[in-house]
Amino acid sequence: MDFNRGNDNNKNKKPDGGDRPKGNVGTALLITVVIVLLFSWILNSVENSQYTLTTYSDFLDAMEAGNLAEVEMHYDRIIYLTKEEAAKPPAQQRACYTGLPSGGDNLALAEELHNMGVTVNEPIVEDNSLIMMILSYAVMICGLFLVMNMLTKRMGGDAMGGFGKSKAKVYMEKQTGVTFKDVAGQDEAKESLQEIIDFLHNPQKYTAIGAKLPKGALLVGSPGTGKTLLAKAVAGEANVPFFSISGSDFVEMFVGMGASRVRDLFQQAAKVAPCIIFIDEIDAVGRSRDNRYGSNSEQEQTLNQLLSEIDGFEPSKGIVCLAATNRPEILDKALLRPGRFDRRIIVDRPNLQGRLDTLKVHTRKIKLSEDVDLRKIAQATAGAVGADLANLVNEAALRAVRMGRQAVNQEDLLVSFETVIAGTEKKNTVLTDMEKRLVAYHEVGHALVAALEKHSQPVSKITIVPHTSGALGYTMQMPEEEKFLSTADELRTELRTLVGGRAAEQIVFGIQTTGAANDIQRATALARNMVTQYGMSDKFGLMTTATVQNQYLDGQAYMDCSQETAAGVDKEVMGILESAYADAKRILTEKRALLDEISEFLLVKETITGDELMAYVNADANRLPAPGEEPPAERTESM
Ligand code: ADP
Ligand code: ZN
Repeated sequence: MDFNRGNDNNKNKKPDGGDRPKGNVGTALLITVVIVLLFSWILNSVENSQYTLTTYSDFLDAMEAGNLAEVEMHYDRIIYLTKEEAAKPPAQQRACYTGLPSGGDNLALAEELHNMGVTVNEPIVEDNSLIMMILSYAVMICGLFLVMNMLTKRMGGDAMGGFGKSKAKVYMEKQTGVTFKDVAGQDEAKESLQEIIDFLHNPQKYTAIGAKLPKGALLVGSPGTGKTLLAKAVAGEANVPFFSISGSDFVEMFVGMGASRVRDLFQQAAKVAPCIIFIDEIDAVGRSRDNRYGSNSEQEQTLNQLLSEIDGFEPSKGIVCLAATNRPEILDKALLRPGRFDRRIIVDRPNLQGRLDTLKVHTRKIKLSEDVDLRKIAQATAGAVGADLANLVNEAALRAVRMGRQAVNQEDLLVSFETVIAGTEKKNTVLTDMEKRLVAYHEVGHALVAALEKHSQPVSKITIVPHTSGALGYTMQMPEEEKFLSTADELRTELRTLVGGRAAEQIVFGIQTTGAANDIQRATALARNMVTQYGMSDKFGLMTTATVQNQYLDGQAYMDCSQETAAGVDKEVMGILESAYADAKRILTEKRALLDEISEFLLVKETITGDELMAYVNADANRLPAPGEEPPAERTESM
């Protein structure tokens, strides 16, 4: 049931949107011709129905009998009125017509008729009428064609594509003029992007070795953290054109339009390669196709086209596709496959230093008065993103102008901080002091349990800067080597680490907060797996009580056991969690002083590294060497 792969097969099916404009003109032409033919036929039959068709002999008979009253000689026929008809009132007269024998001498005939006393009408315009007719038809055809063409276009010609060039809002900048100097902080992201820049500078270096070049990278982060800015900076650093389009521009009302825009975008980019293609809000097109998030056929078609274009372009041409999203979890797995957007670059909310740098970048061109202390502003704006800070600086400058001052002072910055950040987004981005303390203790709780437990992986980073995922802080554990197996002990340690956050809250503040919801969820899932799938509980032993249903979608397991067993499993899971929580509380209570020390340090610095944490832990271990414990020096080496 590999849905991803199944969907990938679609990538070669090109929607035929782009071929339609030709058909469009053709349709208009066809309609025109049909209308003209129909029209002339109707005209002809209306004209003919006025006359009765006779044979030429009938005409000659009438002529010999002296029965003709009037004759009108056309280039191709003779229309004549007999004497009987001529005697009737004009409304009831009915003329006859007959063809002219080819090669006949019209002039002689006319003369003869005239001599017989018949009125001969010779329409004067007759000779021109053929030309006139052809001309009028030509004019009619042209006019009709234009109208038809316009109509078909209006009725959906847009959807039929080919006009994407003007409508797709494909937006190219020859030179973005933005470099990494304009992007404050984000060092990890810059580092990951450095390789792409190098590749755009000299692709030969990579192709010579035979390395496959990266085609795309996904920038993931909260709105306003500088994803677009980073993408532009990559183009600026590499000195290549920058194409940018928003995912929502692709998704149009008409099926096939998005696909044709994607094709158009890549065609334009191929012409000026090397270049960067930046797709903002890629989740608008790249939404998973399993319909859980409400994808539709237009979006699917666009996505298929995007996949096929990404597969299709030669990386050696120097096209790099960057995409930005703040909802990576809803992206289609096919987009994230190797060879596509397989690199994920996290663009985090800035920490204290990052905020300070951002403020510096944005105040470069602004006159600041002596009293400005950007560090204070940076400290006050925990949780703010780059866009907020840029806005803050601008608001401060505007305020300074309003106040009639020549330079921005500290008060301007503080007041605009209140209006920009505290005023609008305080609830979700800036933490109160108490919340900050809680988060700090919570995260250190996780980290300390992890560090003190023997089997636990070392912590690489702890931060209380609100994170992209919505967590208020996080503890990043870094596995030293890739691991495929975990022992039961390791899993129990992981459980203790997971509940360590809540344990610290409980020990220090005596309260429980909602911040631990995700930890509890993960701990419960892990404990449940230990019981139902890994055979790690005393009560159920090796019996499996749940099966994984669709490994490639959500990997969720479903219980397949009796109701009583399921209730027993719940109890067992609860027991495991309780003992893990008790252990975590015991560990942290024993090391309460250490917990306080590190938490205070984290509160000041906001982000601390694993090394800094271990320095505290090791110093503590050296102070009170516990009997039987491993010497701290050895431990540092193993970190
Ligand atoms: P995103 O694409 O992540 O939503 P943008 O790149 O559009 O965010 O950022 C909006 C603005 O915020 C930028 O134009 C810039 O002025 C400012 N900004 C964001 N992050 C930074 C940063 N790291 N350094 C400097 N300015 C930043
Ligand atoms: Zn936690």
